[in-house]
Amino acid sequence: MNKIDINFSKVPSPAYVVDERLIIKNLEILKNVMDRTRCRILLAQKAFSMFSLYPLIGQYLSGTAASSLFEARLGYEEMKGKEVHIYSPAYREEEFDEIMNFCDHIIFNSFSQWNKYKDKIKNSEKKIECGLRINPEYSEIKTEIYNPCAKGSRLGITLKNFKEDELDGIDGLHFHTMCEQNSDVLERTIKIVDEKFGKYLKKMKWINLGGGHHITRPDYDIETLIKVIISLKEKYDLEVYLEPGEAIALNAGYLVTRVLDIINNEIDIAILDTSAACHMPDVIEMPYRPNIIGAGKPGEYPYTYRLGGVTCLAGDIIGDYSFKKPLKIGDILVFTDMAIYTMVKNNTFNGINLPSIVNYNDKDGIKIIRQFGYEDFKSRLS
Ligand SMILES: *Cc1c(COP(=O)(O)O)cnc(C)c1O
Repeated sequence: MNKIDINFSKVPSPAYVVDERLIIKNLEILKNVMDRTRCRILLAQKAFSMFSLYPLIGQYLSGTAASSLFEARLGYEEMKGKEVHIYSPAYREEEFDEIMNFCDHIIFNSFSQWNKYKDKIKNSEKKIECGLRINPEYSEIKTEIYNPCAKGSRLGITLKNFKEDELDGIDGLHFHTMCEQNSDVLERTIKIVDEKFGKYLKKMKWINLGGGHHITRPDYDIETLIKVIISLKEKYDLEVYLEPGEAIALNAGYLVTRVLDIINNEIDIAILDTSAACHMPDVIEMPYRPNIIGAGKPGEYPYTYRLGGVTCLAGDIIGDYSFKKPLKIGDILVFTDMAIYTMVKNNTFNGINLPSIVNYNDKDGIKIIRQFGYEDFKSRLS
């Protein structure tokens, strides 16, 4: 754990505080993988779209991966001159010209989508590389909502539905079957992909290994990743893309919040100026229990509290935590690993304001990038 030297009392509350130094640390790890393997790594924007940092991220990575027209445009405009890849389960016809304008790589989820748009792409002046998402029907994900290989999945083409006579114009294959996993999972997945789709890979210019690679986690086995990428490149003579989201900003940001009230109902309850439902929805969706600096599991320290959000949703509970000293109204609590899948997923349910977005670096110290207000809430309604 890095020593935390940010003075969180100087930050508006609630706020997502991203430590640029930790982003750089992650980017250096990813760049090292790129340099050693000649692979290309993209930022999956769906996990982290703090575009004020895109110029920095673009100094290390090859570009962005998008899941929609808007993400594609954000990557195109804010990470200038870098690659823009897009994958979507299906494209809207009225958006496709714009998508072609912003993207250099377009990945299709089915042969029907590919056949629908291939003439448009062939006839365009811009050189766009096309890929197909395959479903190798192999994953090691326990949480069904995050498992693209679940029974009946709509994501990707299974071998049974793969049409080898409709590949003219296809430059690459894409799969995304991992979630917060280590390289041993990738190694086992590649074995299956190779067995099932290897004969098609011979004809491809690239393969995209999707996201879910926790490359910047301390226990991640980078040597196995490097071995897998190099052996793919040697066997099939193609470019290898990875598009992790989490790995770029893993453990690089905080959610700073204050205690608004303390009550008791069988258990001590602290009500915070944040909300699981609005500001960290994965706590409820995944679900998981985020860490708080200086706090422990219930009963680990003398004073245990249930931490609740400020919405009226009964289940807006972050979890039970213990502290060395009793909590007081106004105390600051700092949740860790809050850069990813937070700002991109937050909402204004109950009219709760969005947390400010704050950056920290050595040169500027604490810098408030963006604060939100009533207009942001109102502008999404009518
Ligand atoms: C979610 C997703 C990613 C990024 O996944 P992480 O778990 O954030 O690394 C990349 N590609 C696709 C197609 C995805 O759906």
